[in-house]
Amino acid sequence: MNSSEASNKPLIIAGPCSAESYEQLLSTAKEVKALGINMIRAGVWKPRTRPNSFEGIGKQALSWIKEIRDELDVDFTIEVASAQHVELALQHNITDLWIGARTTVNPFTVQEIADALQGVDANINVKNPVNPDLALWLGSIERISNANVKSVGAIHRGFSSFRKSNYRNEPVWQIPIELKRHLPDIQLICDPSHIGGDRSMIFDICQKALDMGYDGLMIETHINPDKALSDAKQQVTPQQLKEILANLQVRERSSDDIQFKTKLEELRDKIDSIDHDLIETLSSRMKMIQLIGEYKRDNNVTIFQLERWNDIIKSRPEWAKSLDLNKEYIEELYKIIHEESLRTQTEILNNNPQKTP
Ligand code: PEP
Ligand code: MN
Repeated sequence: MNSSEASNKPLIIAGPCSAESYEQLLSTAKEVKALGINMIRAGVWKPRTRPNSFEGIGKQALSWIKEIRDELDVDFTIEVASAQHVELALQHNITDLWIGARTTVNPFTVQEIADALQGVDANINVKNPVNPDLALWLGSIERISNANVKSVGAIHRGFSSFRKSNYRNEPVWQIPIELKRHLPDIQLICDPSHIGGDRSMIFDICQKALDMGYDGLMIETHINPDKALSDAKQQVTPQQLKEILANLQVRERSSDDIQFKTKLEELRDKIDSIDHDLIETLSSRMKMIQLIGEYKRDNNVTIFQLERWNDIIKSRPEWAKSLDLNKEYIEELYKIIHEESLRTQTEILNNNPQKTP
């Protein structure tokens, strides 16, 4: 990892998706530790989408973890999905735990886990819920924080989407950014393995997370990924992990250099002024929308016009492309603009009485 400041060094958690056997866990943990990583992840109970998949070793893996932890002098973090899991983990002195994406969606379960953790000296990371719902993520973090544990962090593992995407779980970076805005001091860790779903995507996702100021990375690492019993495609070998970490750039969070600060201010002033123009333009567009809404109302015509929308959603990304803007970005932007346009026109149609001819 290339970093000029040691204090900036991200926390790295690595280890297999699932604990599969004592030997697999020991050999993976040994090689991961040789990279200077002291926090090993391992899934003991695996929430799987479909039945008859490998659902984890369960309790027996806790004994392996205990043994390997003492032998190698490393810490382990595991997923808990119920109060019973918490109790078993604590009985084995495992106090670094995470709550999985399928659990964060369920406030009843999260509350039961929080109750089982009441006052315990444990470090808990809460993964984002499967669906892109910031409030649900914040709510789960709040429940665990209210249990007065030692520390509560957040893991960003991406979100399910109905859209076709290269990602297994789309990152929707705006959501963890918003999480940080609500909880500026929370430790935020990126899980590139579950975001990408493919080992070839891990490096780029890690670099992006570090460039966005994340505090750490949790990377699924397996001694023999292709033979893994879960998430085989997205796991890397300890050697691949070593290469990923060696090539990541850790940049400074900010700089005190006066020249840097002055130039940054200058550029930000320009952005402020462009944003004013942008908002004025959106406001002018909205005034047109209001006129169109009234016109449709007066002529008793429906708001949504498929042909017009088809034309807009095709032409605007093309215009944008000719100006070196990403087509998908403009397409998404226009979906939001159009939604607001429909909302405004609905209001005009329903709240104002039709003019009598
Ligand atoms: C995991 O970490 O292996 C896991 C099941 O993750 P998630 O809850 O993010 O799907
Ligand atoms: Mn996994």
